Amino acid sequence: TERQLRQAQKLEAIGTLAGGIAHDFNNILTPILGFSQMLAEGLPENTRNQESAQAIYQAALRASDLVGHILTFSRQADAERTPVHVAAILKEAVKFVRASIPSTININQDIQINCLPVLADPTQIHQIIMNLSTNAYYAMQEKGGELTISLKQKKYADLPPDLEESGANGMYYLHLKVQDTGQGMDKETMDRIFDPYFTTKKRGEGTGLGLSTVIGILNQLGGRISVESKIDAGTVFNVYLPCMEKLPSAAAASSSQPIKGNGQ
Ligand code: ADP
Repeated sequence: TERQLRQAQKLEAIGTLAGGIAHDFNNILTPILGFSQMLAEGLPENTRNQESAQAIYQAALRASDLVGHILTFSRQADAERTPVHVAAILKEAVKFVRASIPSTININQDIQINCLPVLADPTQIHQIIMNLSTNAYYAMQEKGGELTISLKQKKYADLPPDLEESGANGMYYLHLKVQDTGQGMDKETMDRIFDPYFTTKKRGEGTGLGLSTVIGILNQLGGRISVESKIDAGTVFNVYLPCMEKLPSAAAASSSQPIKGNGQ
């Protein structure tokens, strides 16, 4: 849609700018990180100077973490695409999420395994899943709840009408659903969630780049996203990814060709 196109152009410009700044900033951070750590270790314990050096080191670490986020966000353009089995990545990600969330949050998963592949960079798919699940978890942090993650292969013909003109050539798409029973969002928030740097999280906890990254990736993959939310009831994100219906000829040729020993 026109809105998505505008978003994409805005994202690209911000990505390039932020990527450049982040890269230079990273170079500045390296000596700050290294030397403050050295200082903290060399100074006598529990002195004011040591605590100061420690504080510099901690702050530099946080800055480096933030720069890392911005760099991944702006590096989308270098992604290398291969046929990706989303179900396999999803299963691994769910394991990871399960291990890192409190027991007050219950995870339900319904993953169709035999889906067609998607042409993508595996880390892009991983990022979509992680960004959506992290938000879902955050929304349920206080009260607990249910995180439902599902993956189904469907026909484009069955898509809701507003998502129909997806630009896809094929017949099939994957429907990834990430649903939570968390705090939900009001209309004003919903209108802005895909804007880069928009966040309602506490200072230091959110960058506001999670959903912009998801949109950036989906624009590249010809995917779509929709969201429904209700205050105090929860939120559902629906992601639609076009399937690869046949392998590209180069990939098909190399994957059907057994690799011969190098010595021959
Ligand atoms: P960040 O997570 O760093 O804030 P995002 O782009 O991922 O950045 O999200 C932007 C905002 O969208 C969040 O701060 C939050 O207000 C809202 N949001 C995203 N997902 C959810 C969700 N599952 N439930 C409630 N609010 C959400």
